[in-house]
Amino acid sequence: MDIVLKDVSKIYNKGLVSEVVALAAVSLSVSRGEVVCFKGPSGSGKSTLLSILGAVFTPTEGLATIGGKKVSRMPDHFLTQFRQKNMGFVPQHFNLFDHMSVLENICLPLLPLGVPPKQQRVRAQLLMADLHLEHRAKFPVRQISGGETQRTAIARALINDPSIIIADEPTAHLDKVLSEEFIEIVVQLKMAGKTVLIASHDPVVIESSVVDVVFSVEEGRLYRQKHSSGATCF
Ligand code: ADP
Ligand code: MG
Repeated sequence: MDIVLKDVSKIYNKGLVSEVVALAAVSLSVSRGEVVCFKGPSGSGKSTLLSILGAVFTPTEGLATIGGKKVSRMPDHFLTQFRQKNMGFVPQHFNLFDHMSVLENICLPLLPLGVPPKQQRVRAQLLMADLHLEHRAKFPVRQISGGETQRTAIARALINDPSIIIADEPTAHLDKVLSEEFIEIVVQLKMAGKTVLIASHDPVVIESSVVDVVFSVEEGRLYRQKHSSGATCF
């Protein structure tokens, strides 16, 4: 699914003294199957941008379309359904439930979709095999390694077979070996035709050849840094 933003602004606490312009008239186009990285200092608007690209928030102003659907105009209820069906999220700090098992964490996004338990397990088994997690299926997340935690978060993001995967600073707390492992997984996702959107200032990610385009986010504005395919910022 192609993603297009036209003059998208996001203003928090509009009209209050605490008003923040997190995004200022951002325009961006991402084609299906591209791997795009957004870099920039803390507070520059990366997470806000990912939230709009992932249909978590609607913009204050401007137009956002994903796969031709105007998500900027969608009521919350439809937005939630759209997200559950099409998006996979690898949040900052992974946000897994420590006391729950690897398998239970991976299956969580399927609960609101009403997928029968047996089918949930079949899908999770396939992902755990791909991501070398089978031997940890029944372990509580608090007992697994950093790399296994990362792969569990990725498996959870993929369980609904999303066409767009969004990762917010996924390697921020990982060493170089695990960051490179993350890139290897992104290579597989790209080969499977997925669109991958990443916020990161990790050189392992930004300089990776799997990344088609790097945008710099500065005070809510977008600047193109690297361009080897069709994604454009205009
Ligand atoms: P980054 O991910 O690059 O650190 P963010 O998108 O989180 O940037 O934040 C951009 C700006 O918006 C910052 O000034 C931040 O303080 C502000 N901001 C983010 N989320 C909220 C919110 N929910 N309410 C008010 N301000 C926010
Ligand atoms: Mg952020």
